[in-house]
Amino acid sequence: SPRVVVAGETLIDFLPNSEGPLSGVESFTRRAGGAPANVAVALAHLDETPRFWTRIGEDPFGDFLEDALRERGVPTDFVERDPVAKTTLAFVAHDENAERGFSFYRDETADTRMQPGGLADEELEDAEWVHVGGVTLADEPSREATFDLMRRAREAGVTVSFDPNARPELWDTFDYVGSMREAFGLADVVKATPEDLAAFDVSGDPSELAHAILDEGPHTALLTLGGEGSLAATSDGSPWTSDLSVVEHGGYEVTPVDTTGAGDAFTAGVIAALVGDEPLSEVLAFANAVAAVTTTAAGAMTALPDREAVRAFREERS
Ligand code: ATP
Repeated sequence: SPRVVVAGETLIDFLPNSEGPLSGVESFTRRAGGAPANVAVALAHLDETPRFWTRIGEDPFGDFLEDALRERGVPTDFVERDPVAKTTLAFVAHDENAERGFSFYRDETADTRMQPGGLADEELEDAEWVHVGGVTLADEPSREATFDLMRRAREAGVTVSFDPNARPELWDTFDYVGSMREAFGLADVVKATPEDLAAFDVSGDPSELAHAILDEGPHTALLTLGGEGSLAATSDGSPWTSDLSVVEHGGYEVTPVDTTGAGDAFTAGVIAALVGDEPLSEVLAFANAVAAVTTTAAGAMTALPDREAVRAFREERS
């Protein structure tokens, strides 16, 4: 049975077919998305097919997503279909600075209704790793479902990883920074971007940001830096290094077509490499390669490489 469990939202990203503010976008392209779903699919491509727990509506968009997961190699045994609530939709726009903006249709949608205990303890028995993200922390009951899963995984001795995945527009009920600190305290490994930490009272270079994460309890903090690659900092509780250290990898030069889901592909690369007990320098090189390849086609789930493609890509560039 799978070594890795991933839990959280699956949603539809409507990507704009033109540039500019959302009010002016006339047509969109439908893509399967949601950070945990992207991670699950990327892991399946890397021969580390996870158990994926999510919740979508019993509506046509839910049908599309369930098919998308199955077609991409993610078993749908733990894909819940909500008879009442709809599937979450996210409309995306690119402003003049090429920054992404979102408009979410996510009020009491299916993924916010994931329930504590929805994945039973016996489903965690053979697991070595559980990965969750910050979006399901923004609403109840998925917030308690996510915290509960993290707590039970910890108690079972399973490695827990967390990605804040900051989406400021979703945080109208709970405090984002307080929620992230609570989640960091339940995680062994945190993967974040500098933007995820922008609302934190820390400044400085990526290594300082990573250490601010370690201060909350995780033994490993990973920061992704777009085209600049990534960095990992570890504390002395880390099973992968013997002391406090910082490892960096500058990434790979590609011509990105769409960076949507690059961070999620990176996370999948990290998990696949760390459950295989690779050293941190190799973990970063591998994960940066997975992410870089992912940016070379539109859509988060379109250009995900398998291990052979990652190997070929790295060989070509060495
Ligand atoms: P997204 O939210 O779009 O999924 P992100 O903001 O979470 O992405 P980034 O830090 O932008 O994450 O990128 C994640 C990883 O993807 C980087 O660490 C790097 O390995 C790879 N990557 C992203 N952009 C580029 C690029 N322009 N060239 C090469 N690699 C890239």
